[in-house]
Amino acid sequence: MQKLERHSPRFWYMTPVAETDRPILGVVVGDTHTLLIDAGNSESHTNALLDALAENGLARPTIVALTHWHWDHIFGLSALPWTVSIASVETKNKMERLLPYEWDDASLDERVASGIEIPFCADAIRLEFGEARTMRVVMPTLTFDDSLTLDLGGVHVMLKHVGGDHSPDAVVAYIPEEKVLFLGDALYANLYAPSWRMTAEETLRLLALLDMFDAEAYVWSHGSVASRAEYEKDRNVLRLLATITMDFPGNKQRITAQYERLTGRAVEEEEEELITFFVNGSRRDA
Ligand SMILES: [Zn+2]
Repeated sequence: MQKLERHSPRFWYMTPVAETDRPILGVVVGDTHTLLIDAGNSESHTNALLDALAENGLARPTIVALTHWHWDHIFGLSALPWTVSIASVETKNKMERLLPYEWDDASLDERVASGIEIPFCADAIRLEFGEARTMRVVMPTLTFDDSLTLDLGGVHVMLKHVGGDHSPDAVVAYIPEEKVLFLGDALYANLYAPSWRMTAEETLRLLALLDMFDAEAYVWSHGSVASRAEYEKDRNVLRLLATITMDFPGNKQRITAQYERLTGRAVEEEEEELITFFVNGSRRDA
């Protein structure tokens, strides 16, 4: 069951759903505007959030910012008429490419077969929408290149285009008054490739960029709101694996051995998965 949680005075979020790939939705409550971070994966997802806001006596969002173009972050836009939507120029360009698509089973199967769509997303779309594939891609109202700062009245949000392996258009949202950094999917692997992958170069660049934000809470869209200590633990694992990958590109055995030597313990399951992503990221097949 999804819940609307209050993290701090002005930052609320709705919890994710793994099976249907519903990401966390962020809500920043200002005195003059309420900002929604990501539009939801369907109108019913977005409507569930709007209902929860009303139940808590919170204003309906007047602005929505998108973290990237993937379906699960944008399909809810059609449930937000009269709301100003903001995206990076790259996100809008990617969304335009979705406009001609049909979403029935045959069309999804066809795109999966040709490598445009991935089975993981096609399955989640079927589960979220059932037979009624009524989704309609709505274009964002306002676009920006590098960064954009919003003054919502008593609270600010800085949207920053950071890119990365998961999606080159990725944007993070930083709320300085609440010390919250909304990561979106920015630090996840690239799923739209022949095998799920991460590159050492992009990971190191992105981690250095994210270090510039002074945050105490980090929102992983398909995970949770992590404390600074939890984030730093994950960040250090990623950074160490990326650094070792630079020395032994594509060599799973050597990367694993070096990681175990430097940490003085056996790799954990999640780390092993990350190593596989970095090994795949050294490939040249996409
Ligand atoms: Zn994504």
